[in-house]
Amino acid sequence: MQTPSILRRELLAAGLISLAVPGLLAQTTPALDTAILPLATQEAPLVLDTLKKLTSFDSGTGQAVGLSGVASTIEAMAKELGGATERITPANGIVGPNLRISFKGTGKKKLLLIAHMDTVYPAGTAAARPFKIDGNKAIAPGIADDKGGIAVFLHAVKVLKARGYTDYAQITMLFNSDEERGSVGSSDTIRRLAGEHDAVLSGEGTGDQEVMVMGTAGVGRTQVKIATTRLTLTDRPIEEMADLILRSKDTPAQVLNTRMNWTIARAETPDLMDKLPAADLQFASFEFQITGKASHAGVNPHLGVNAVVEMAHLVARVSALLDGETGVQRQWRRAGGGLVGNIIPDRANAALEIAAPKSLDIKALESKLIAAATQAQVQGAQITASASVGRTIKTDGLADATASADVRVADMPTFEQLSKHTRALFDKKKFASSRLDVQDGIGFPPFNASADGKKMAELAKSIYTQLGGQLEFVPRTYGGTDAAWAAQSGKPVVENMGLPGGNIHSDQEEYILIDRIPRRLAMVAEMIRLVGQ
Ligand SMILES: [Zn+2]
Repeated sequence: MQTPSILRRELLAAGLISLAVPGLLAQTTPALDTAILPLATQEAPLVLDTLKKLTSFDSGTGQAVGLSGVASTIEAMAKELGGATERITPANGIVGPNLRISFKGTGKKKLLLIAHMDTVYPAGTAAARPFKIDGNKAIAPGIADDKGGIAVFLHAVKVLKARGYTDYAQITMLFNSDEERGSVGSSDTIRRLAGEHDAVLSGEGTGDQEVMVMGTAGVGRTQVKIATTRLTLTDRPIEEMADLILRSKDTPAQVLNTRMNWTIARAETPDLMDKLPAADLQFASFEFQITGKASHAGVNPHLGVNAVVEMAHLVARVSALLDGETGVQRQWRRAGGGLVGNIIPDRANAALEIAAPKSLDIKALESKLIAAATQAQVQGAQITASASVGRTIKTDGLADATASADVRVADMPTFEQLSKHTRALFDKKKFASSRLDVQDGIGFPPFNASADGKKMAELAKSIYTQLGGQLEFVPRTYGGTDAAWAAQSGKPVVENMGLPGGNIHSDQEEYILIDRIPRRLAMVAEMIRLVGQ
């Protein structure tokens, strides 16, 4: 560990600090409190206890009971630490509290710590995948994203209290309930509170390669509704949807600094074959189930296998095959997949009915069709197919086809470019009768660290290096975080104060790395101590 004065001189020389900046960021390389790391090491098992409690609740966005359970667990701990707690009602009718906790000190600076209580997981996941330890991994849904951030902030304040530190004016924690759905109920509160504080620490995890991001993506959606005036057998809303997904899926290669992944599709058509002369025809029905792999649509879409894109390929190749079969009429009755907007969909399905002249060998056509249908085009996708005689597909009788994509951009001008590009692609309709209604927009702004934010990140890195850790800066991640809302206040914000781990937003076991807890805790405690002075 280098002595502070030598380090300070080196960093001054390297221009990493500037004496010109008065106030909180001038003091970027003070000596660390050598008692903090041993205290944090003692505290680490208790961090795991807290994580076990917090992950025992189903707190997916919108799950009121679990979110309230998480909030109560945090409130109990905060009160023990002498904090004042308050539940702020979210805007826009969002379910779940915005939990504010305040600790008063005797110093000058006010520090805001933000993290989110909600997860991407459906109800029942906490029971199905309970907290467990496996070697150096603590595993549970939402443990890295973002219950790790909450636990680190609470236990860092506990370590500072054990050291008797009160040299800050106020430490405020704000834990919201809707980050995974764009923070529409909390973004104003985050921005307002950030404006009332001197600096913001955001508690997202880091991934197992401990990084700090200097920028995040603007996150939004593109939604296309395909309507047809008066539905007949020659109108093809489901084939139009499939073609639209396929003609736009490579947009990120055409518009730089963007990501676009189709994550949800829903389409049905009412029964139109009942008007056909059944006496002259024979009918068959097909159900297709597509399995892919879930992953974070922004951070690591490449780790997923997109079942909705495979569904689009399947609809296209089976339709092309049937185009070559004289006298065979078809109707896609249902096609869809995906549940959560920011997750690469791991499940999709499609259902088809055909009518063929009685003279045609329908068994031969069935096996040809199933052979073509089960030839997956997305690497890693798997397809099962079943056929039945007659028209057997059940739907809710809707005539609707909607597809939506998760969109990520480095900045707003790039979004304008992407929107223009995709709308031009959408306009190249496959069927003249299709009417497209396109809605797109950015719900989550991009975060770009300010100069002071970067200096705060440098401070974190110098602390972590002194503690024996390694921290890398990443110019931009395609995840979206609440740091973006906080940064709109103009105050310096640093991200990734949470715990290293992985498998976020996936069907794999989400985990944090246990051996990193002491150092991470010590780093955050030192950040609070130093930035709060
Ligand atoms: Zn998160």
